[in-house]
Amino acid sequence: MSGNLYPVVALFGAPGAGKGTQSALLAEKLKFKHFSVGDLLRAEVTKGSSIGDLASSYMNQGKFVPDYVVNDVVKAYFLENKEDRVILDGFPRTVGQAKELRTLLKLFPQIRFLAIQIDLSPSEIKERIKSRFMCAGCQSIYSKDNFKSQFVCPKCSSSEVTTRKDDTEEVVQTRIDEYQTNVSDLLDFYKSEGILSVVEGSGSAESVYKKISSVIDGALGFSSGRS
Ligand SMILES: [Zn+2]
Repeated sequence: MSGNLYPVVALFGAPGAGKGTQSALLAEKLKFKHFSVGDLLRAEVTKGSSIGDLASSYMNQGKFVPDYVVNDVVKAYFLENKEDRVILDGFPRTVGQAKELRTLLKLFPQIRFLAIQIDLSPSEIKERIKSRFMCAGCQSIYSKDNFKSQFVCPKCSSSEVTTRKDDTEEVVQTRIDEYQTNVSDLLDFYKSEGILSVVEGSGSAESVYKKISSVIDGALGFSSGRS
């Protein structure tokens, strides 16, 4: 195989299924970069760029930033980061965005895109969430392994990261349902494209990580590290 291939991974999983933990492991062990559309949009807003002004006009009204604006930000990112291993966080969110991403990635033949779903039963998720930490700033859920000494949210930098006392079964179930509603069309799309891998999310973080990294190796044709 000529040239190196760079994996771009969209990780899917219900809150509590281990997405945050696995993203952190991929970053630590395989030097994946964390790509968050929200962070990139906020950076453009801070810069006061034309795309940032456009984005903030939507955000200020509490509206979703339209796909074409998001797409420009994503494109700019890949033009500047052609040779990175990337985890997509919060993108794509819709089938429309997934189709735009597919078109965009055709410009980058060295990229291997993978959609990976971490699958965990609702009852196991409920068990796990009871011992989880949650950020008061952005509601992200983390496991204790995500933090060494300081409890600071890697997404929004809030230091109000605490175990959630009010996690009733009902609240957790609502969040699982919301996730399933939001993501099912997207997962169906990736299934029909033949690029969805489903990884069983039970077991230790390390064992789930091994399964995910072997999916990535497989997509790279086992040629990673060898030239
Ligand atoms: Zn946060």
